[in-house]
Amino acid sequence: MKFDLHSHSHYSDGKHAPEFLIERAIQNGVTHLAITDHDCIHALAQYEKNPPEGLTLINGVEISCQWEGLEIHLIGLEIDLQSPGLLALLASQQQRRRHRIEQIASLIKQHHKLDLLDYFAALPCVSLTRSHVADFMVEKGLCKNRQKVFKRYLGKGAKYYIKAQWCSLNEAIGTIQDAGGIAVIAHPSRYPLGTTKLRRLLSDFANGGGDAMEVSYSNLDSITIGKLAKLCLEFKLWASVGSDFHTSETTWLDIGKMPALPPSCKKNAIWNHPRWHSISLG
Ligand code: AMP
Ligand code: MN
Ligand code: MN
Ligand code: MN
Repeated sequence: MKFDLHSHSHYSDGKHAPEFLIERAIQNGVTHLAITDHDCIHALAQYEKNPPEGLTLINGVEISCQWEGLEIHLIGLEIDLQSPGLLALLASQQQRRRHRIEQIASLIKQHHKLDLLDYFAALPCVSLTRSHVADFMVEKGLCKNRQKVFKRYLGKGAKYYIKAQWCSLNEAIGTIQDAGGIAVIAHPSRYPLGTTKLRRLLSDFANGGGDAMEVSYSNLDSITIGKLAKLCLEFKLWASVGSDFHTSETTWLDIGKMPALPPSCKKNAIWNHPRWHSISLG
């Protein structure tokens, strides 16, 4: 069994269609793949009645939310795609995204006479993200790469930074669980948090009924994985694993290519969670 429970299609800021992700996952030996687009589930509808052959596709989503002024990403796994509460929250998040991008677009038009909204109109994405804006600005020669765009224009405190208004952490947990899903803190080591504040996040999350956290993901060293595994056990959370795949252009990050969960997390691996209903013999 090989699980990859975090990946993106071109319906959010991934580069590829869901079919490509599924094919690549099979090639890489993944038996269980979750497609977890930012604030949308459009990749999954076509497989609801017609599941793919060769692997088990898990319904997932990655919701941007707010906690103590920070942006935290919450993965929902095994969600019911018809849940009215989930559909309403995702529609509202997508609308917030569109509104934010329109504000950035008007700044770009004003300063560079370039039309960002035309660029978006030609893309298949349903969730508009700053990653797309960064690609656009690189394509137009305004910066050399994405990192530079974030530093100069889009990151916190930069020229065209617009603060996002996401739902709260508790609202995201509740909505995922009302949709029958399992709520997972994504990439906990990637937030600008020291150990004390990270522990407070995990404590608030666990007290708010949250289920799980990612313990293994791409480009993590074994010391960090060990620390995350310890925190996961301490806060009595289930352990998840996912590559956060976005594009085949990144040779250092691929579907299914993250370290396995450490042995200490074998029992609390997320596929042993009572709400996990896809077939798993792991
Ligand atoms: P958004 O959800 O619209 O705020 O866009 C956030 C996305 O932008 C994240 O999921 C990252 O993929 C990307 N991103 C955020 N900060 C940076 C950065 N400093 N460098 C490159 N990409 C970034
Ligand atoms: Mn992304
Ligand atoms: Mn994320
Ligand atoms: Mn992600």
